[in-house]
Amino acid sequence: MTITKNKVVLMHYTLKDNSGDILDSSEGHEPLAFIQGIGNIIAGLEEQLEGKVVGDKAKVVLAPEKGYGHRNEENVHIVPLSGFQADDDEKLEVGMQVRVETNEGVSIADVAKIEGDEVTLDLNHPLAGETLHFDVEIIDIREATKQELEHGHAHGPGGHHHH
Ligand code: ZN
Repeated sequence: MTITKNKVVLMHYTLKDNSGDILDSSEGHEPLAFIQGIGNIIAGLEEQLEGKVVGDKAKVVLAPEKGYGHRNEENVHIVPLSGFQADDDEKLEVGMQVRVETNEGVSIADVAKIEGDEVTLDLNHPLAGETLHFDVEIIDIREATKQELEHGHAHGPGGHHHH
């Protein structure tokens, strides 16, 4: 069986940046389970996995435009600190992630800087601008169940668990 659209793929992966630092890895965990071709993983990686078989190992290098895009300084906003409710007694700190309302709905922003009454929020994806270096190993490939296709994600080990 080869990887084609709507197959469930179990894959071990390690993601590194240009300097070889590990950003994310399935090592020591269950392999990642995803449905090919429906956007469970980034499109650039799906493209490179198409046609692979169990046991295949591959190095996939994705430029930012095939990964999480380039950083856009228009996605950096300075907002008043007073706009953050302190009712959950969690103090706002640099590096925290907060939910913000944007024109396109709710989005996740990084708190990049706090200075006086000004908070700098960065809505760029944390991996925007990065060239992504994936080392992948295909562990298993199977047909997706009807329910998995309806839900849009893989079930079972490495996938979603329903309780
Ligand atoms: Zn489900």
